[in-house]
Amino acid sequence: MCGIIGVSDHKEAANIAFLGLYALQHRGEEAAGIASYDGKNIHLTKSAGLVADAFDEDSLKSLKGKTAIGHTRYSTTGSSNSKNIQPFLVTHRNRPMAVAHNGNLTNTEELYRELEGEGSIFQTTMDSEIVVHLLAKARNGNMKKWFIEVLSQLKGAFSLVFLVEDVLVGARDPQGFRPLCLGKIDQSYILASESCALDLIHAEFIREIDPGEIVFIKNNKIESAYLPGWKKAKKAHCIFENIYFARPDSNIFNENIYQVRKRLGRQLAKEHPVKADFAMSIPDSGNYAAIGYAQELDLPFEVGIIRNHYIGRTFIQPSQFLRDFRVRVKLNPIKNVLKGKKIVVIEDSIVRGTTSRGRIEDLKRAGAKEIHMRISCPPIKFPCFYGIDFPSKKELIASSKSVRETARFIKVDSLAYLSLKGMLSVMKNSGNYCDACFTGKYPVPIPTNTSKYLLEGA
Ligand code: AMP
Repeated sequence: MCGIIGVSDHKEAANIAFLGLYALQHRGEEAAGIASYDGKNIHLTKSAGLVADAFDEDSLKSLKGKTAIGHTRYSTTGSSNSKNIQPFLVTHRNRPMAVAHNGNLTNTEELYRELEGEGSIFQTTMDSEIVVHLLAKARNGNMKKWFIEVLSQLKGAFSLVFLVEDVLVGARDPQGFRPLCLGKIDQSYILASESCALDLIHAEFIREIDPGEIVFIKNNKIESAYLPGWKKAKKAHCIFENIYFARPDSNIFNENIYQVRKRLGRQLAKEHPVKADFAMSIPDSGNYAAIGYAQELDLPFEVGIIRNHYIGRTFIQPSQFLRDFRVRVKLNPIKNVLKGKKIVVIEDSIVRGTTSRGRIEDLKRAGAKEIHMRISCPPIKFPCFYGIDFPSKKELIASSKSVRETARFIKVDSLAYLSLKGMLSVMKNSGNYCDACFTGKYPVPIPTNTSKYLLEGA
């Protein structure tokens, strides 16, 4: 998963992009980058690490110009080497352009082979590079036609921002898998993955980019074009954005994420109530559903685990004794709260089950007497091909173990998941979601070669 931002016609374009990326940090912690255009040249800074570490005063100063795009990376295609950090830049016939991409394409291999056969030389192993090669190949005086021709060849999930000289372009696939919204600061337009990025820079939220829409922004003016068939395409917003991925202070897919998660918790309480001494969450991801769960049942809500927000790199080589040091330094249970209690622990989801198992062990060590775990989504049984890094089927615990077996593995007294019907019932437009990770019903055909490192062996 990744976070993207674009800023148009603002004298502080790169600084605004930098601040916006800060708010989008949760969408990718591996690397960050910004490209800007100053009317003549394109400038680029990108580096591995968190946004705060990837830029410094000098690198930000070097990002001159009034138009900029930025990216935070979490690798879902290609390995996490430095070549794969975005924005990705190409100069074609002396005209530079840059792209930043969130989502995964599903026809990567097909497009890659075609382009390679026609002589394209790839610098990275990312599906996103394919987009700029297609653009370079099809360059056309009419920008709308040009982008429609190229983007309609893409299949799968894409929210994109481009810098094409002084034009900022934004686009979303016709299913609207990943979010992308439009905001305004002073007279300048901003594109961002989530509305929390707009809040941070005091920009006004205007609207979401429509699934299948392409926007062209220049001189404080915005024009739209649409991909063929956009209106008829069945919407397939990623439901896992609502459950876990997006920030709770964001509004995406016409919902406020905090409120959605609370509703998920309330529904979970209706389906699987527990008469416990109190409800608690695994912070931070389980917090919001846990509040909803406790409110629905009139249960006390306690903070049984404290999260340490200041974990950087750990320099000590862990010995056997300190093996789980990194895990414990992040989350520490409070013995005085937990000792002798019957608790219900709310978590947003279980993927592999290994983190949950570790947390439960910690809670037991801290003295909890009885532990009941409740999950605010159904069991995740199928991998994602649209941008969430869900492992292969065999690594997903729910694809091979029943709920009872999972409960035994995690070592809880009971375990229950929210039903699919219950989950969808709390979404405003429940028919507009992709729930393939729970159902295996993929709204866009998935590739036959499904490796994250698809282009690396090529
Ligand atoms: P686990 O018990 O190991 O399955 O970890 C569960 C926690 O990891 C939950 O809070 C999940 O939401 C979170 N998580 C979210 N996305 C992923 C992912 N792509 N891979 C692994 N864990 C994830």
